[in-house]
Amino acid sequence: MSVIAEIEARQEEFAGWRQALHENPGLGFEETFAARMVEEKLREFGLDEVHAGIGGTGVVGVLHGRRKSNRAIGLRADMDALPIAEETGKPYASKVPGVMHACGHDGHTATLLAAAWQLARTRDFAGTVHFIFQPAEEGLGGARAMLEDGLLERFPCDRLYAYHNFPGMETGRIFTRPGRMMAGCAFFTIKVAGRGGHAALPQTTVDAAQVAANIVVTAQSIVARNLDPNETGIVSFTDVHAGTNSHNVIPERATLKGCLRYYAAPAAALMKDRLEEIAKGVAATYGARAEIGFDDNFVPLVNDEDATEIAVAAAVSTVGPDRVHDDVAPFTGSEDFAYMTDRVPGSYVLVGQGPGAMPHNPAYDFNDAILPVAASYFCRLVQRELG
Ligand SMILES: [Zn+2]
Ligand SMILES: [Zn+2]
Repeated sequence: MSVIAEIEARQEEFAGWRQALHENPGLGFEETFAARMVEEKLREFGLDEVHAGIGGTGVVGVLHGRRKSNRAIGLRADMDALPIAEETGKPYASKVPGVMHACGHDGHTATLLAAAWQLARTRDFAGTVHFIFQPAEEGLGGARAMLEDGLLERFPCDRLYAYHNFPGMETGRIFTRPGRMMAGCAFFTIKVAGRGGHAALPQTTVDAAQVAANIVVTAQSIVARNLDPNETGIVSFTDVHAGTNSHNVIPERATLKGCLRYYAAPAAALMKDRLEEIAKGVAATYGARAEIGFDDNFVPLVNDEDATEIAVAAAVSTVGPDRVHDDVAPFTGSEDFAYMTDRVPGSYVLVGQGPGAMPHNPAYDFNDAILPVAASYFCRLVQRELG
């Protein structure tokens, strides 16, 4: 019931890897520094196979245990950074202007490398571990790219596991739940076409700004009046645009962007249908036209019951029962790993990393203290799955 001693002893070295990754961030599908470092380290550790260039910049390492078995599991980390200008003031701050590891994927990559180092030394398991380093988690479809590149056909896995750091929760506490864990997400864009004109002659126009404003307001009735009150749904407008920076032109066109969040596919279908009806119906009411397009960029992440039982047991043997929470409320954020667990049962946990800025904030930094915890958790998962 503790962090693995050999991993703990190397904490500083692993933190050095993490900080090197932090200094050299890459946006989605541009994680060349990370991919090269991962490939080099996995070869150095003596993995049986290392495959680069899967789904763009993705890397997969294959490690066989000392004992034979047909079972295999996948451990996954994400490698991408975000288009944010860093403000941490850390000595290892990003050397790439406007790009930083503001979600801790540098930490996830270093963690999985640390687990690979330990497991390659010991190989004390039966079967195969696939170390999956994915590109472009932040909404650009890195998981789908790897899957389309044959990830699960080339490296079949019986189960898949991943983790995310979690600021604001005590360092080293582990949180998960069976079933619904993270939300699905569909981006939408609504284009309104009216008739522009002079602000002094509204009777000659069809005001696209007024139509857009009514769509924003009416769309909030979808969750309030259409969705089952026991179901979760979010309709958020994040970009509302009309006009050309004038005070006396009624705009001809308006564009609305936003996203829907949900845990269940029927809820998503209902929200999409209603949003389309409202956009078109409101536009028609005022004599305008509206078009809507959807981009499904995350499916919901559902934790498999059996995999989550194993994840909880592995977490308990790493940090003790008092520091494992197996009934955390589902999160309305989304996670690209869901595309993988949509295909193979898996489980996703959050590891608390203490006080500090939240992800996607320019002051955010991964807490290196959780590297040994999360790496030990991965090793314990392998013991439980392939012991
Ligand atoms: Zn993120
Ligand atoms: Zn993240």
